[in-house]
This record gives sequence, C-alpha cells and structure tokens, in this order.
Amino acid sequence: MSFDLTNYQPQFKGESMFGPGSKGKAEAKAEKSLPSEDVAMAAARDKRGLSDDARPPLEDHVFQTIFLDKEGSSSMWTKDEIDKDKVILEKWWKQQSHRWQHYAGTVPWMMFLNGKRHTHFAGAWTILNMHEIAVCSGFAAAYRLGAPFPFSQKEGCGRLFKLTLGASHGVRARPEDREGFLA
Ligand SMILES: Cc1cc2nc3c(=O)[nH]c(=O)nc-3n(C[C@H](O)[C@H](O)[C@H](O)COP(=O)(O)OP(=O)(O)OC[C@H]3O[C@@H](n4cnc5c(N)ncnc54)[C@H](O)[C@@H]3O)c2cc1C
Repeated sequence: MSFDLTNYQPQFKGESMFGPGSKGKAEAKAEKSLPSEDVAMAAARDKRGLSDDARPPLEDHVFQTIFLDKEGSSSMWTKDEIDKDKVILEKWWKQQSHRWQHYAGTVPWMMFLNGKRHTHFAGAWTILNMHEIAVCSGFAAAYRLGAPFPFSQKEGCGRLFKLTLGASHGVRARPEDREGFLA
C-alpha cells in the first residue's frame, strides 16, 4: 500500500505549517527555533502564496510505500522498480498481528486482570492492533483511576470507549456519565 504524504501536508496548499489560523506571535517564535532551511521554505511558501494549483508536481511528491508479508509475498513486490536515488528512508517493520489464540487466551481475560494489584493495562494489544484501541485503552485505564472521559458527547468516540471499557474492564460508564453516547 502507498500513501501520498505530500497530500497529507496542508502547508503545500498554502496552510500555515503550524495549523489553520495560527499565524502570529506563536508561529513567528516557533519559526525562529526552526532550522534555517525550514524558515527559508516557509518564507518562500508565504511569498508564493501557495494555492491548490501551486502544489509540487506529482513527480516531486513524497510517498510512503509499505510492502507487506516479506516471506509470503515478496515475489510480487515492486520495490526494486523504485529509483534508488529517490528513496529518502527505508525502514523494516514487524507488525504485530493476532492469531486466534489472542482472542481466546488474552482478550476475554483482560477484564479479570485489570484492576488487580492496582494495575490497569493499556495498549492496542489488549484487544486489537489498531490506533483507536491503543488510544481508547489508555482512556479506559485513566477512567478506571477516576479521570473523566473527555469525548463523551461524540458518537464514534463514546461508542468505542464504552466498548473498550466493557471488553477490557468489564464495567460500564460511571452512573453520572451515563447519558449521551455513554448511556
Ligand atoms: C506498518 C504499520 C501500519 C499500521 N497501520 C495502521 C493503520 O492504518 N490504522 C491503525 O489503526 N493501526 C495501524 N497500525 C497499528 C497501530 O500503529 C498500532 O495498533 C498502535 O500504534 C499501537 O499503539 P500502542 O500505544 O498500543 O503500542 P506501540 O505504539 O507499539 O507503543 C508501545 C511503546 O512501548 C515501548 N516499549 C516496549 N517495551 C517496553 C519496555 N519494556 N519498557 C518501556 N517501553 C517499552 C515501545 O518502544 C513503544 O514506544 C499499523 C502498524 C504498523 C507497524
């Protein structure tokens, strides 16, 4: 799979590199602490007033390409067709994946482990290896220690948080929180 990272960078569409509407003292201060070539780039960008049409041409975009399953699928990889002079960084990853044993031997038991010996576990591994679980499991552990859940009014957030709380901790939201999406 491949990602056009240049498209993910709004500063190429003329946005401030510090986020929408953040021009001002904070930006000026941060720019001062940036390496000089970054400041030069920002200045050039401001001067040109980049618009959508002024984005770099496709051949200058930065891509991230992930070649999966070395042992089973490397014969299908097109990695060697990439011009080596254009490679910025090559990094080998091992991505955790789960076999059925994870869903039989770990996931259902987390609710009995959590809270024992003053310990609450967090991390994507507690349910399923994905960003949302990584974050929600942390919120759930903090919630069990008494912290509020800050996104209870947002449907998608509340639903996954409730699910994580139930699956990993075997509890529901606190009574005072059981309205809206935590009901
Ligand atoms: C190539 C790739 C692509 C992915 N794409 C997606 C995607 O598109 N969408 C998605 O939802 N998920 C994706 N994932 C999965 C997602 O990145 C993980 O689920 C998520 O990052 C897990 O977060 P985490 O905080 O639980 O664990 P991690 O991010 O693995 O953090 C664990 C941390 O603990 C540290 N650590 C380990 N052992 C110790 C120790 N003994 N002492 C102290 N620190 C320690 C590690 O250094 C690490 O910083 C992808 C993963 C990979 C590798």
